[in-house]
Amino acid sequence: MGDTGGAHDSTSNDRDAHLAELGGALRAGGSRRTAPRLHILRALAENRGHLSATEIHRHIQAAGERTNLATVYRSVDRLTALGLAHSVSGAEVRYGLGRDGHAHATCTGCGTVADIAEAPTAGAAVALAQASGFTAGPLVMSGLCPVCRARGQ
Ligand SMILES: [Zn+2]
Ligand SMILES: [Zn+2]
Repeated sequence: MGDTGGAHDSTSNDRDAHLAELGGALRAGGSRRTAPRLHILRALAENRGHLSATEIHRHIQAAGERTNLATVYRSVDRLTALGLAHSVSGAEVRYGLGRDGHAHATCTGCGTVADIAEAPTAGAAVALAQASGFTAGPLVMSGLCPVCRARGQ
């Protein structure tokens, strides 16, 4: 909701501004334990994709910050609840930056998750699933990514 434009940031300036904004949102949330969350947001922003908690943890450590996996799990859950990150379920749950509301394609070969443009009919499919009593979120399509396809998996 309220997500105007929908264009993805393409410059690092935009991204820095976005991170500053996220940091402000976190502080407005009243939490004193924001450092791990900011590290997570940075890892997600810098990788522009969807990372598992383990990968987020690895990126934070590679950046020279100290944290443990349990903190990453707890913090990323909180970020998701705040609408600053979203999770994509699959063989391994992955997290992306920003509020959910877009469709995903997930690779059955390597687990890579990509944001994809949502088809006009996607909302109707979700509504139908919800009418059947499912707590259906945005669509997740599964298939093989170009890398896995090229490998012939
Ligand atoms: Zn996503
Ligand atoms: Zn793949």
